[in-house]
Order: sequence, then C-alpha cells, then structure tokens
Amino acid sequence: DKTQRPDYLSGLNPEQREAVETLEGPVLVLAGAGTGKTRVLTTRIAHILSTGRAYPSQILAVTFTNKAAREMKERIGVLVGHAVEGMPWLGTFHSIGVKLLRRHAELVGLRSDFTILDTDDVVRLIKQLIQAEGLDDKRWPAKQFAGMIDTWKNKGLDPAQIPEGDARAFANGKGRELYVAYQNRLLTLNACDFGDLLLHPIRMFRANPDVLKDYHDKFRYILVDEYQDTNTAQYMWLRLLAQRPQGAREKHPSPPPPHKGEGQERVAASRSPSNLVEERLSAPQASPSPLWGGVGEGKSREEKPRVNICCVGDDDQSIYGWRGAEVDNILRFEKDFPGAKVIKLERNYRSTEHILGAAAHLIAHNEGRLGKTLFTDRSHPDDEKVHVHAAWDSEEEARAVGEEIEQLQRRKHNLNDIAILVRASFQMREFEDRFVTLGLNYRVIGGPRFYERLEIRDAMAYFRLVCQPADDLAFERIVNTPKRGLGDTTVRNLHDYARARDIPMLAAATEIIETDELKPKARKALFDVVTDFRRWQTLLETTPHTELAEQILDESGYTAMWQADKSAEAPGRLENLKELIRSMEAFESMRGFLEHVALVMDAEQNENMDAVSIMTLHSAKGLEFDTIFLPGWEEGLFPHQRALDEGGRAGLEEERRLAYVGITRAKRRCHIWFVSNRRIHGLWQTTMPSRFLDELPIDHVEVAEQDVSYGGYNRGGYGQSRFDKADPFENTYQTPGWKRAQQHRTEATRDNWGTRSGHAVERIGYGESGPRTRTIEGE
Ligand code: ATP
Ligand code: MG
Repeated sequence: DKTQRPDYLSGLNPEQREAVETLEGPVLVLAGAGTGKTRVLTTRIAHILSTGRAYPSQILAVTFTNKAAREMKERIGVLVGHAVEGMPWLGTFHSIGVKLLRRHAELVGLRSDFTILDTDDVVRLIKQLIQAEGLDDKRWPAKQFAGMIDTWKNKGLDPAQIPEGDARAFANGKGRELYVAYQNRLLTLNACDFGDLLLHPIRMFRANPDVLKDYHDKFRYILVDEYQDTNTAQYMWLRLLAQRPQGAREKHPSPPPPHKGEGQERVAASRSPSNLVEERLSAPQASPSPLWGGVGEGKSREEKPRVNICCVGDDDQSIYGWRGAEVDNILRFEKDFPGAKVIKLERNYRSTEHILGAAAHLIAHNEGRLGKTLFTDRSHPDDEKVHVHAAWDSEEEARAVGEEIEQLQRRKHNLNDIAILVRASFQMREFEDRFVTLGLNYRVIGGPRFYERLEIRDAMAYFRLVCQPADDLAFERIVNTPKRGLGDTTVRNLHDYARARDIPMLAAATEIIETDELKPKARKALFDVVTDFRRWQTLLETTPHTELAEQILDESGYTAMWQADKSAEAPGRLENLKELIRSMEAFESMRGFLEHVALVMDAEQNENMDAVSIMTLHSAKGLEFDTIFLPGWEEGLFPHQRALDEGGRAGLEEERRLAYVGITRAKRRCHIWFVSNRRIHGLWQTTMPSRFLDELPIDHVEVAEQDVSYGGYNRGGYGQSRFDKADPFENTYQTPGWKRAQQHRTEATRDNWGTRSGHAVERIGYGESGPRTRTIEGE
C-alpha cells in the first residue's frame, strides 16, 4: 500500500521497509556491507518515535563506537524532522553500562562516583597484587594476567566460574585467588575496569530482579548494530534485558552450580556455548567470593511478553574475535528468540561494482560463511577499478599516497571524503609526518592517541585524584612526578600505612605527616602535596574547571617540569598539555571530562575541518568514504603475523574479513598499496605482497603502471603481473617488478632474499637524501 507513507520510509527498498516496520517481536537483519543495515536501525528508531510507540528514553540502542552513536542521533533528528530530545540509552555497550552502574553502583558495592581504570592502571594494580602475593612479577607478568582477566570478563566469567585449567595456569595455581583479590581491590579503590562496565550490571540484574523488571518495563525497544561483534558478556547483558523467550526457563530447572574439580571441568568442556551462556545467566553463585558474597541469587524471573529486539549484522564483518567476539551469537539468534523474523538485504547502496566485486571475490576465500548475494545499483561506466600499487618502502608509500590525495584535492574532492585505513597503528606515523610536511589536514581516529600520551596521563592523574581522592593509582602515578624527593621507600611506607588501615593513600598521607614515621624532608614534601590537593578539592566546586586544571598543573610544578626539560619532545608535551586544557572546555565539569576521556575511543580532533581520516581497519567498521587507501598489504603485516601465529586458519580468516571491511568502506575509489621494505620496530624487513592481493579478481583490479620514482615496479597488465605464488613464503612471484626487486635484493644481500624475516644486515645507499643505513632484522 502506498498510502501516505512518511518521507523517511519512502526511500527504503521493500526488505528494508519490512525491517523498519516489523516492530513486534524479534528481528534479525543479516546482510552484507553497505546494504543499509545501520540505516534500517536509524529509520526504525525514527519510526518508533514518530508513531508515538515509545519515548526516546524507552529505546535502548547499541552502537559500536561513540562516534556512531552521535551520528545515529543526528540522523534520527533529521528523519523525525526535529532534534531528538534525550535518547539517553543510545550508545556503546560500555557507555550504557556506565550509566546503569552510576545509577545502581551501591548494588554491586561501589559508590556512584567510581573511577573507570584504563589498561595501564589495571596492569599496575595487578603488578602490586602479584608482588603482594610474594610472587616474582617477571615470571608472572602483570600484563599477561590483565589479558587473562579481560578474556574471562569478555566471556562473562566471575572468579568462581573460570576454567580450572586457566586458574592453574597462572601464578603457581593462584589465578583464581588473584582474580578475587583484584576484584576486591577494585572495590576498595571504588573503581572498575572496562569489563566490569558490563559484568557489574549483569551481576546487579541477576541479584535484583526488581531492578531488572524496572528496565524490562522501561525498554520497549532494543536495537543493536554490528551484532556480529558482540562478545559473550555483551550477549548475556542483552539477553537479560531482552528477557528470555517464554518457557525457556523450564529447560534448566536447577542448573548445576559451577564447581571446582576436574570432573566438572570435563563436563563443562563438553557443553555447547549456548548452554554455558544459559547456565551463567541462571546459575547461582556456588562459592561466593568476598566480592559477590553479599549478592544474593536472582529469583526466578516472571514470564514477560516478548521483547522487541532488532539486531543487525554481517558475519563477514566479524573482526573482533581476538577480543572475545562470538560470531556465533548472530547464528544463534533464531534459536534464542523463537519466531524471529530474519531479513536479508542484498542491494548495496554504497560501492561501485568494481569495489563490490573485488571484496566479494576476496571474502569468498573464507570457509564457513553464511554466504550472501550482493549487487549494487551504484555502477557507472567511468568507475575506476580497484588500484593496486607497489612502493619501495613505507616512506615512499606515504609520499605517493600524499601525491594521490593532492591530485584528488586539485580535482575538488573534499579531504573529508578520503580515508587511510591501516592494519597496525604504527603505520600511521609515516602518513602523519608526510601530511604535516605537505600541509594536508588529517585526523587520527581511534587507536593509541592523544589521551594516552605520557604527559596527558600524568595530568589526568592529578585531575582524577582531585575528583576522586580514593584513586590510589592516580596518587602513585604523580606523588613523585615532578620529583619531590618522595622516593620508593616513602611510597612503600605510605602504601603499608594505607593498607594497614584500609584507607586511600591520600588519606594516609594526611595522617602520616602528623606522625614521625617519615624523614623530615619527605614529611615536608608530602605535607605540601596534601595541602595542594586539599586546596584544589575545595576549589573544585567554585572555580571553573579549565581554570582549575591549569592551576593544578602550574602549582604542582608539573608544567615547570617540562619547561625545564631540554629534550626534543618537551615542547610538544607542553603543547599537548595546553591542548588538554582546551579540550576540557567542551565539558561542564572536571568529572564529566574525566568520564569522557575514560570512555572515548575516538580521537577528538577538530570535527569541522576538512581533513583526511587516518585510522585502523578495526575502527573503520560501519564507516564509508568516497576514496579509501589501504596501505601495507604485505605478508606479516596484513595478514598480520600475530593473527596467523595465534589464530591459525581462523586467524587468517579474520584477517580476510578485515580486508573485506577495508575494501567495502569505499564508495568510489579504492587504492591498495604494498611495499617491499618496511621498518618494523625500528628494523628494516624485506616484505612480500599480501596473499590477499592474489585473491582479488582480475576483472575488477588494475595494477598501477608506474607508481614510484625508483622505477622498480613498472608493471604490464594484470595478466602478467599477477602476484602468483603457490606458497606465500616461497619466493615465486611472477611480476616483473618483483623479479626486479628480487634481483636488487639479491645483489644487496647476496642471500636469503625472500625468507620470512631476512637474515642479513646491510648498508646500502639509496634515496634522495643520501645514503641511509638499512638493517634487515637478523636472527
Ligand atoms: P556496513 O555493513 O558497512 O555497516 P550497512 O549495511 O550498515 O553497512 P549503511 O551504512 O546503513 O549500510 O548504508 C550504506 C549506504 O547506503 C549509506 O550511505 C546509506 O545512506 C545508503 N543507503 C542505504 N539504504 C538506502 C536506500 N534505500 N536508498 C538510498 N541509499 C541508501
Ligand atoms: Mg552499518
């Protein structure tokens, strides 16, 4: 029926429309890249709002990044025709988790002003715990244990539930104890880590059915984007909120409690993942740790009407397996939500036929896919094929990409429509350097970024401690930065004093300066620190926060420390500190800012300038650009060696999905690059073209004729220059360029060309700027 459709519906194809208009019951949209899944979600929300089915606050919508959440909100406003007030529950799993937790912190033993620790804090904390256990922290690295905890948390496992084998594998069998100690320590610090942002709400809901019921009543609609990348904890969280399908509870009237012991472990191992989730959702805590001791078992849930949940995803774009994402979640949807409507979308609205063809051909090399048809309506006779270029090294690559971008600029393309997607973040620097030289605006999105820089972290520690006096990690970070003569011994004394009395270190400092436990010099220094913080804390409520922040950095001597520093980085660090203060302006309070920094995954840069985006492939998910550059398609880098070593075939397939994600970000143009020499960790390595290049279809790809000034890579048509190789680590490239490069290398190194890491150290002169030393990683 075509009667009076609202505008926002008329642009949709029939399948999309069905997904938008099926508001009752569970819906899964399973479809390839660029088919409008996100658009369906956005339109669905607009539809719910404009038909008055729910208030903005009754919609729970999960996106993968904060940026995606902001964009979705904007677009909903456009569709509805006016700015959307509220939508407080539109965000990432983490940001929604924080919100829930701030509301109900006391139910899990926290106060509502709890701190969110980042990875660095977590590692420091674990290191202390390991040392406190009298264990050697070199033999049992904190970082490794932090990784284990993260993995457990991604799977939704509390200490009592971790596999016996895991518990035994670390710290002479003390893995479980350490995990418990870690959780307790977090509570003492009034802090939580990222995993807790999901797990605490899960615990809370399980233990407080009345609270869960409030949210059941509240959330009329649940929507999830990028569903293929949810991990088990997220999935448990969603299912709790989405409620279980009717009748499911009877399946496990009294699930066996998690139990220590080998026999149990074997049983657990043979259970399907689905049963495990089931069990974790309903199992009582058998052996409560101190942490969970006070939290009672959730009572049997009342049956509720089915929830209106809509998830969209693409199994071919599952790229977070290494972080615990379970693509199975998408495959199980119909089972978990009986009667679900599964909708497929096949029309791609984003890319040209060449781009789509290249991506489809590549991903077809994966096994175990659901398989999808994709066709595009965006084709034009003038469409460019996917370009493949070669360069001598990464500097050359950055230079050539820069030139290409300048050309696009001359042809009146916006920089905003251009993105460079790298496999590993270290690849970014070369482009950044080059763009600075060229005066090309760029922004870095995601990845190691501004807030992770040393000086920023120090400054943030000051701010954290002012807002949150129990933040011992912040205290330890800055108590002797700048140097105040508060050495390790003083800090250890302070630490012991605090632990003995179970008080935060700043409070301990306040007390200890009244005693004669410290040497006069240390006592004086500590007295100054305590006085400073006291003053800043009182100013917190009265002084504008940016002003206060500046004052803190000045009065603490932190700014002066860098001013006195004569190293090459010091000026940059001072600039960064200035930039930090500037970035606080957008927030109402220091606390608000701290929370933002803890959460934000996108690099905050001037959003309004016309700039090339640089980001990792992982953070490019869901985005689209007219022109995409994909540098670094070399064996070892892409596919990444670590993924191959640790993941085997599955690892390779995940890398291939990443390549698929990369290519399908492009609307009109896609340029792929590989280099023959790359510096990794400061050492030059010889590299080979990625096997993924071989997997691109001839029809849709064009190998650049003449890319680089070194001229080693003139290629004929694609026919002769296919990167044929039977074994990727055998040196059997057929391209003239590669032959030439090979010759060059053989002359230079005389042997071992083409082995995986190279075994020679050589000095050769090349390049415009005179001879350079090139080291090829030795054994
Ligand atoms: P990905 O898998 O990469 O996340 P997606 O399936 O979420 O992709 P969208 O980002 O929603 O796809 O849509 C891709 C592009 O196609 C967007 O620019 C979107 O506006 C456009 N688009 C989607 N549906 C339609 C439509 N019916 N008519 C016109 N354009 C559309
Ligand atoms: Mg999308």
